[in-house]
Amino acid sequence: MTAIATAPEQAARLDCDRCGVRALSLAILPRGGELAFCGHHGRAHHDHLVAAGAQMISLP
Ligand SMILES: [Zn+2]
Repeated sequence: MTAIATAPEQAARLDCDRCGVRALSLAILPRGGELAFCGHHGRAHHDHLVAAGAQMISLP
């Protein structure tokens, strides 16, 4: 799979990688890999992730 512009279907069920609650955002890392974040941690890490070149996706 090369399409990264849209969140994969399974992304809607991810849990935050920091605290384990339901994730509201997903960061696609430029070197590969993904990190899921809840609202709190998504905001806390957003600027750093964007600066690192990650693509942020909002989950439903
Ligand atoms: Zn969290």
